[in-house]
Amino acid sequence: MQISPIPYGKQDITDKDIEAVVNVLKSDFLTQGPSVVEFEKKFAEYIGVKYAVAVSNGTAALHLSALALDVKQGDNVITTPITFVASANCIKYCDGNVSFTDIDAKTYLLDIDKLHSVLKSFPKGTFKGVIPVDFAGYPVDLEKLREIADEFGLWILEDACHAPGGYFIDSKGVKHNCGNCDYADVAIFSFHPVKHIATGEGGMITTNNEDIYNKLLLLRTHGITKSPELLTENHGGWYYEMQELGFNYRLTDIQAALGISQLDRAKDGIERRRVIASKYNLAFTNTKLKIPFTANDNYTHAYHLFIIQYEDRLGLYNYLKSNNIFTQVHYIPVHLQPYYKAQGNNKGDFPIAENYYEHCLSLPMYPSLTDNQQDYVINTILEYINK
Ligand SMILES: *Cc1c(COP(=O)(O)O)cnc(C)c1O
Repeated sequence: MQISPIPYGKQDITDKDIEAVVNVLKSDFLTQGPSVVEFEKKFAEYIGVKYAVAVSNGTAALHLSALALDVKQGDNVITTPITFVASANCIKYCDGNVSFTDIDAKTYLLDIDKLHSVLKSFPKGTFKGVIPVDFAGYPVDLEKLREIADEFGLWILEDACHAPGGYFIDSKGVKHNCGNCDYADVAIFSFHPVKHIATGEGGMITTNNEDIYNKLLLLRTHGITKSPELLTENHGGWYYEMQELGFNYRLTDIQAALGISQLDRAKDGIERRRVIASKYNLAFTNTKLKIPFTANDNYTHAYHLFIIQYEDRLGLYNYLKSNNIFTQVHYIPVHLQPYYKAQGNNKGDFPIAENYYEHCLSLPMYPSLTDNQQDYVINTILEYINK
């Protein structure tokens, strides 16, 4: 039987999505129009946050957030080594220094207790901020992280790229969607096609802080404003001022229309991801594969990724590939990338992250993965590991 290739992640585009994009193409605004504003409003409602700022991609969202948090030359910021490189790079864009703290062996997220010991071993004020990642879609314990951040005067930038639709319940019984910024200062999302909501390229920044929101708006468009109350002079209707060095990090209305249409189905997508996850969990319980940790009832996974651990990871990866199943590894530890090694990081620095990397593999996980395709993936894996 000839099986068509099964990737680890994939967008889902409907006729309604296509129609939404075509409608914008026929309208007056391809960019800086009403679809961007509508996408921001609907996304903020979905997450349950006051402000949302659409930008050109998740990396731009990180960069603008770092600027809005006032990251300057020499500022020290901590993140996890198990993330996409962009989570760390945004600090380098601002000439800051990136430090890493090892992950928790169970959740694979930044280990908050370890972070606490690191902070206690330096004079207060050494570190300015922390960038936690809701890795794979598992929510960060932001209540606990906020307590520690407050003790040491850190801001929190939540990288929620993997987790729109994930949430946790805090100690007061309150539900917090990832990126709602009840505990974090700013959060960011990506709309790259492998993520939950696809716009081609695209990103979003969320915050409840009005000052940060206004800074983000200014920085997204060259640092230029036309708001009469912000101008230092006013020569007439055409007049604008560039008040800061900003960028063109705008999202187009074409992309925003796709985003709005995708957002309408986001809840169904999460539901489908959870069904796929339970089927994997059932199939691999009591096998040589280690399934992801989900045992805490107060944390609801968004399942951007379904990551297993297996001793002979390379063998399994190659066997699946030869059977047209294209798994992926998330991630090569950021501190071991040549660029970050050149800044003084070494193999052995973060043993839990490095051991995790040796064995991790992301299985196909996306809403349009059919039951038959998933059965094929499961059977092919069992075939290999039971050999
Ligand atoms: C995808 C991703 C990014 C970057 O998003 P882009 O839209 O690709 O720029 C940043 N952080 C994490 C954790 C991601 O998964």
